[in-house]
Amino acid sequence: LENKMARFDRMNLIGEMAAGIAHEIRNPMTTVRGFLQMTKQRGNLSPEHIDLMIEELDRANAIISEYLSLAKDKPADRRLQPLNQIIENLLPLIQAEAIRSDKAVFFETAVCPQLYLDEKEIRQMVLNLALNGLEAMKAGGGLQIKTYWEKNTVVLAVADQGCGMRPELLDKVGTPFFTTKEQGTGLGLAVCYSVATRHDAAIEFESSAAGTTVFVRFRLTAEEKQADPETTLSGGPGHR
Ligand code: ADP
Ligand code: MG
Repeated sequence: LENKMARFDRMNLIGEMAAGIAHEIRNPMTTVRGFLQMTKQRGNLSPEHIDLMIEELDRANAIISEYLSLAKDKPADRRLQPLNQIIENLLPLIQAEAIRSDKAVFFETAVCPQLYLDEKEIRQMVLNLALNGLEAMKAGGGLQIKTYWEKNTVVLAVADQGCGMRPELLDKVGTPFFTTKEQGTGLGLAVCYSVATRHDAAIEFESSAAGTTVFVRFRLTAEEKQADPETTLSGGPGHR
């Protein structure tokens, strides 16, 4: 029943988003078309205008990619693998992004077991959470990514020293296209919730004026609990 509900929610979400996406894509198209029309009449286009057009097209592209990663109706391709490995592979990308805006990223880990994970989806989720954390902070801020055990769950925590989120904001996150950023898509957290649902994981926020921590809690199956991290690290991947 739970799986059916999750699927139902996701289908609802995709339906809701289809209407939103038309609107969101039209804005950049209108801008770009306007500038092209102007060029035709006046015969020149300033570098600023070109930059704006590129930004608008990039935003439209980001919306489409994130929408597609939500809308694909493939079941998650979950294989038994270490969560930490996926994060470590992603770290250089997050670090590069952090350095660009004068921030730091730390990855801290207690031994984590293998989980049934869809690598692409988990990568996307961690990236979205990390980017939100970085975007919330001023230069000099630090982002901490942690993995650890908590009773029968494995927790992934992404903690920033950013602006924090008020309760009204927390109520709205995950709603497609809800964004407070000029260049935001408002789809990052919607994708995170969708990925979490597909992994039987729960997402929780803890936020204050000192920053925000997002917790992703993976409930372990009996098989995952039994998996020995030492022996399965180099073993063949399991399927289900
Ligand atoms: P986007 O990042 O494109 O705006 P998201 O779905 O990732 O879309 O986030 C939605 C909104 O939630 C953001 O615009 C921001 O207002 C808020 N938010 C998300 N993560 C954080 C965070 N770590 N700190 C503060 N605000 C956040
Ligand atoms: Mg985001």
